[in-house]
Amino acid sequence: MSNNLEGKGDNNISKAEEVDSQPDMAATSAAMDGVAAAALRSVLQRVHHAAERSGRGPNQVSVVAVSKTKPISVIRQVYDAGHRVFGENYVQEILEKAPQLPEDIEWHFIGNLQSNKVKPLLTGVPNLAMVESVDDEKIANNLDRVVGSIGRKPLKVLVQVNTSGEATKYGMEPSGCVELAKHVSLDCPNLEFCGLMTIGMPDYTSTPENFKTLANCRSEVCKALGIPEEQCELSMGMSNDFEQAIEMGSTIVRIGSTIFGAREYPKKKSN
Ligand SMILES: *Cc1c(COP(=O)(O)O)cnc(C)c1O
Repeated sequence: MSNNLEGKGDNNISKAEEVDSQPDMAATSAAMDGVAAAALRSVLQRVHHAAERSGRGPNQVSVVAVSKTKPISVIRQVYDAGHRVFGENYVQEILEKAPQLPEDIEWHFIGNLQSNKVKPLLTGVPNLAMVESVDDEKIANNLDRVVGSIGRKPLKVLVQVNTSGEATKYGMEPSGCVELAKHVSLDCPNLEFCGLMTIGMPDYTSTPENFKTLANCRSEVCKALGIPEEQCELSMGMSNDFEQAIEMGSTIVRIGSTIFGAREYPKKKSN
């Protein structure tokens, strides 16, 4: 689309550097922030086009901006660009960040959640909009009990499904997704079952098979619950594969590095 701009950005950056020999932290961070806001706009356009290709309107796919490891200033810039839905996957990190950011952010928790972290998460983040990573009955029961005890409104949840078949991955086996979805929607009055989530392959590039598996789970879950498929979200697709995921029916994409830039920590942590 903008091939004519190729290469020109680099020249501008080196000119700016000549102005001051001392690194200017404020200017550097402002430049980074501008990059994130521009990246957000570009992602939203790509999402809209992919939604159109799949015969849907642009508002039928929502974007969770995954801000893990990223500083408040950059998140704030994406917020100021108009974005409101953000995702984090470590409890301690979201507990530190959420109070420093506006209350109308809709936070999605997308990481593995331990039972003893449920209460701090729910009390520390009153604007938590959704937990996407419910992968067994125990954590569902914990969330249900704590939501009830603190008296907040029902919490939206997704059931996380392990569609890649890797033993190291969190998520319910596809064969167990109906039972867990039923448990959440029938036995957890303080939770609102909203659909299914999956993480694809370890390098975050999913194959169509992962996405097909999640779509099949949705068919079975909707049949079992007697709800239309439009009422069951599919959270699939990340930086490297979100367009393909949308074309295969995704309604929520979780996008980190394509908006915020590469993360600066070794990619190995699982807890
Ligand atoms: C980090 C993360 C993402 C975003 O990954 P990117 O490849 O940076 O877009 C999405 N979903 C989950 C569960 C994550 O932990």
